[in-house]
Amino acid sequence: MENKTNNKTSIVLGSKAELKKFLERQDVSSAIKAMAGKYLTGDRITKMILLAANRQPKLFNCTPRSFLDACMKSAELGLDFGGATGQAYLVPFRNGPLSKKHNRTVLDCTFIPGYQGLIELCYRGGSATYVDAQLVYQKDKFTYNLGSEPRIVFEPNLDEEDRGDVKCAFAAIRLKDSPYPKLEIMTKKQLLAIKERSKAKDSGPWVTDEPEMMRKTVLRRALKYIPKTPEIEQALEADNQLYDIGLPTNNEVGLGVEAIKERIAKKRKPIVVNAKSVAAESSTKQTEQTEQPMAKEEPTAYHCSHCVKDYEGTAKELVATNVLEDRGEGVLTCAECGMEVEPIMGD
Ligand SMILES: [Zn+2]
Repeated sequence: MENKTNNKTSIVLGSKAELKKFLERQDVSSAIKAMAGKYLTGDRITKMILLAANRQPKLFNCTPRSFLDACMKSAELGLDFGGATGQAYLVPFRNGPLSKKHNRTVLDCTFIPGYQGLIELCYRGGSATYVDAQLVYQKDKFTYNLGSEPRIVFEPNLDEEDRGDVKCAFAAIRLKDSPYPKLEIMTKKQLLAIKERSKAKDSGPWVTDEPEMMRKTVLRRALKYIPKTPEIEQALEADNQLYDIGLPTNNEVGLGVEAIKERIAKKRKPIVVNAKSVAAESSTKQTEQTEQPMAKEEPTAYHCSHCVKDYEGTAKELVATNVLEDRGEGVLTCAECGMEVEPIMGD
């Protein structure tokens, strides 16, 4: 008997049974075999896929292609996306146009590295002997020195059931041949400002795994001290999707980092940021803008070469929305990594 539906991919993964069938398909199982590399076997990947779906039933509403794509990106880096290790996450986002077209919830799946994954990639790079990121709570003992001999003293208060609110986060990276670690410290306010910018601030890992996401945020900042391997770069780019890449349009369903990168390069059109919408919210600001058109010399976007990110908006807007930090004397730094950003001039 001919079964028309069997070989046709439905718009979403559907159910656990359907997912299993999907994984058994010839083309899909060979795609999974192709994902297996130096770090993971095909069997392990299949197991992680089922674990991830079990842990997060929302994934069943993802398009099969975006789902496979996200798994592949994680597997390429050898990161466990099953959900239990904090190495990587599969994060679903609503696909507006497809949801509308099919009159049901259709999600796109995205791969996001976790802080454990970033730590793993740092060690793999071989230049660090120590990498860590921790949250400090109010009742913990925490002191630090910066300067020429940076040092942290951190004693988590384990006597108390409740260690209090998050006070700050720190990341420490010690490179080979260096007796001292490089330190980054972020206050709770700074961490939450980064969370605010995430398009997944109300769902996904910022909700389910906030402490881990805070640790990743401070670790990202410390990564500027480490030579970036292609794997670290790839992970950072994937992570950027959580912050600055708009939802794919209808014909770009499931497109990965590569395609999005291409899109960015082609149009040189940054797809960040709350700055514009914040500006639009205030009608007075808008009138101001129409009354006095932007001076030609004023940059309309900034680029962080470390995060491989573009930030759209004027300096004022981007500082107001905590995307950039104003260091004075015209120096603007990226809130995520602390590196100086370059202006991009409008055309
Ligand atoms: Zn940056």
